[in-house]
Amino acid sequence: MEHTPAEGISWVAAGDEHFTGTVFFGPLSAALDRSLYALGVLFEPGARTDWHTHPDGQVLYITSGAGKVQTDDGETVRVSAGDVVFSPAGEKHWHGATETSHMMHLSLTTGGATEWLTQKVSDEDYRRG
Ligand code: MN
Repeated sequence: MEHTPAEGISWVAAGDEHFTGTVFFGPLSAALDRSLYALGVLFEPGARTDWHTHPDGQVLYITSGAGKVQTDDGETVRVSAGDVVFSPAGEKHWHGATETSHMMHLSLTTGGATEWLTQKVSDEDYRRG
């Protein structure tokens, strides 16, 4: 067994290459292959990912705050603590906080790295959510 106390998790700024706004990563597992990768992600109000896909899909478990998840067919859902969102393999989407609340989620993926589409979420798309 390996126990990591909360203060032992190294939260780091996600940077702006694949995100808009202020986002922090809290790695909960280290997967360099296709095994489970668990990542805590904290979005400050207005912050969101770029458009992206996941090779094997992604489970999001919202742990606090309020956010939005949108797919490129325009479907948008509002999420809050306790909600779960599953994005199937290859589905183009983004996720982030609402304009007025932070949002923290647990991201569970297998299959390797997120496939970033080098496409920021426009303010128009973000507001639509
Ligand atoms: Mn995702």
